[in-house]
Amino acid sequence: MIDYQKIIDGIHVTCSQASERGKVAAYIPELAKVDAQKFGIFLVDHNKKGYSSGDWSERFSIQSISKVLSLTKAINIIGPAIWERINVEPSGDPFNHLSLLEAENGIPRNPLINPGAIVVADILVTHLKNPKEDFLAFVRELVDDQSIDFDKSVAQSEKTTGYRNYATANLLKSYGNLENDVETVLDFYFHQCSIAMNCEQLTQAFYIFMNRGKCQRDNTFLTLTQVKRINALMLTCGFYDEAGEFAFEVGLPGKSGVGGGITALLPNQFCVATWSPGLNKKGNSKLGMEALERLTTEAEQSIF
Ligand code: GLU
Repeated sequence: MIDYQKIIDGIHVTCSQASERGKVAAYIPELAKVDAQKFGIFLVDHNKKGYSSGDWSERFSIQSISKVLSLTKAINIIGPAIWERINVEPSGDPFNHLSLLEAENGIPRNPLINPGAIVVADILVTHLKNPKEDFLAFVRELVDDQSIDFDKSVAQSEKTTGYRNYATANLLKSYGNLENDVETVLDFYFHQCSIAMNCEQLTQAFYIFMNRGKCQRDNTFLTLTQVKRINALMLTCGFYDEAGEFAFEVGLPGKSGVGGGITALLPNQFCVATWSPGLNKKGNSKLGMEALERLTTEAEQSIF
């Protein structure tokens, strides 16, 4: 039996003493207010037993981690037709780069970089009756927690400074890969990114990717093929232009967000979430990456 609690406690001790913690994202002004000293970790195993340490119960802005959940909802609704509008290749580019989008005629490289996630948002705006409310209800159902909500001040903050996302959405529109108007799609996108969750709630939301499409209450959300595809995308595209590094160091499918969260999973074994707001140069949580590298090394578990 692997003693996850012992490993996690050890990781917490090292991470709380770290002097180099990276930089908190400042391009969304509201995120810059978060305390860089925070560190939390929560792991749930396949028997639904939880292990935790540090600030795991504090909510933070999940940002790009939400892209996996919006993708899940879009796949639920339109199935494989989604791949007519978005590719499935790693980009090797930062999350908000535009050059590839233009070079590839408005077809985003994958759904986990901003252009792809904005197309996914467009699909949800088209198909959901009350897009923001219905998406939030979906996330609440996944986690089985009605208290999960948007952080409206974060959404508003991003709206006022989201120049690159406006540029991206306009470019998509010019290529005919956005059905709805730019304002409506970005309003949805900024809200999905602003959802606040703690580490435990994130592991509950991502439990379906670890547990063959079923949530902790055993309800089925995805087929096995869909789980395979989403996990493959997380592995190859979940960490911007550092996806290779994450696979190399950690060896798990996962997704990061500029709020400092990372969620990762080992199919049929465990799902884990970390939170440390300081980011490395590639925009991934510095201590979160280190913590997960140590977890898979000490537990001697990874998909490889
Ligand atoms: N809302 C952020 C943006 O679009 C998400 C970025 C991220 O977490 O990677 O810039």
